[in-house]
Amino acid sequence: MFDYLIVGAGLFGSVFAYEAKKRGKKVLVIDKRNHIGGNIYTENVDGINVHKYGAHIFHTNDKAVWDYVNGFVEFNRYTNSPVARYKDELYNLPFNMNTFSKMWGVKTPKEAKAMIDKQVKEAGITEPKNLEEQAISMVGRDIYEKLIEGYTGKQWGRPCKELPSFIIKRLPVRFVYDNNYFNDRYQGIPEGGYTQIIEKMLEGIEVRLDTDFFENREEFENIADKILFTGMIDEYFDYCYGELEYRSLKFETEELNMENYQGNAVVNYTEYEVPYTRIIEHKHFEFKCQNGENIPKTVITREYPADWKKGDEPYYPLNNERNNELYQKYSELAKKEDNVIFGGRLGMYKYFDMKDVIPAALELVEQELS
Ligand code: FAD
Ligand code: UDP
Repeated sequence: MFDYLIVGAGLFGSVFAYEAKKRGKKVLVIDKRNHIGGNIYTENVDGINVHKYGAHIFHTNDKAVWDYVNGFVEFNRYTNSPVARYKDELYNLPFNMNTFSKMWGVKTPKEAKAMIDKQVKEAGITEPKNLEEQAISMVGRDIYEKLIEGYTGKQWGRPCKELPSFIIKRLPVRFVYDNNYFNDRYQGIPEGGYTQIIEKMLEGIEVRLDTDFFENREEFENIADKILFTGMIDEYFDYCYGELEYRSLKFETEELNMENYQGNAVVNYTEYEVPYTRIIEHKHFEFKCQNGENIPKTVITREYPADWKKGDEPYYPLNNERNNELYQKYSELAKKEDNVIFGGRLGMYKYFDMKDVIPAALELVEQELS
């Protein structure tokens, strides 16, 4: 009946579906959730676009990717500049002259560098072996203890000494007064939220929601010539080599009768004792307290990190050595499948940002459909 069955109406599945339809293919998209969009889904609550699965900021250095998404929707000029709260102290992120000056009272880059050098020397680190040593060698001990140790411990469920250094290398360290969290050239949030991008991609395509591939596996395996599977690859193979591991999250969303709760879209709570890692205030992603627009309500979400067990939402793949090796074994099995291809964050077991998902999906389109 169909050329392609696409399991998962997230960004990966939707880009592929859109491109396949454009090339004359008949496509069916299913998703076990009751909405399209996967984790980039936004929901309008009283005029505020709520990022249902955590803050999503689009950023990329790739002009082609930026032009591609801008072909579906207009983006605003949002620049992510989270504030870190440690007890009653507030600091700007990422680590930059504003952070250093607040932490130490330094005024110039030279003074900031001297302070960091002194703390790195005291710690005696020459070749960082784990996240703790990497962080201290990047920003010194004070910032490590106040802004990194607790947050990272909560986020990953283990001490920084047991984590790989690459996780912290993602963050810029700058000796200029610049609170932009990303170095990328292009950045923004879609005017009106993310869901409309997916709506446009799936226009004219049959979509069945609340539909789990595994509940009717046999039927779905025979409904199309080929399947694109963007769910968990280990689940597809019935965990035959064992389970891949993930980190999960819990989101607690609250609507408040006030105009402005925290004055910023993202506030990180960096002390270990506060159980959530951050609070996001959704209206600030779209400047709804500025530009003369004053909605008397606001929506906030507290994000709690959580261990993952089968049945929980698998938000972050845990790309450590054990899991990467296990994934390789599943990936070998996947290559032997004639009619099934795997894609996306769960199908490829990679921590993909949106900017990575789009070229990966377009590459698959090239392989499959050109
Ligand atoms: P998903 O969005 O997970 O879509 C997969 C879909 O498949 C889901 O809808 C799922 O329900 C469905 N599915 C799975 N199994 C089945 C099944 N058996 N049957 C039917 N359907 C199934 N990226 C950025 O670029 N910027 C950010 O700021 C950013 N912030 C993030 C914050 C958080 C908290 C998280 C978790 C991710 C963030 N990301 C961010 C990453 C972004 O969410 C992903 O890049 C993107 O959503 C991946 O799309 P996908 O289609 O691969 O996966
Ligand atoms: N990080 C931190 N304190 C912060 C923000 C980030 O220690 O206030 C560390 C933490 O280890 C995190 C990593 O930097 O996992 C990368 O941050 P990013 O914002 O990319 O991802 P997150 O894990 O916060 O979603």
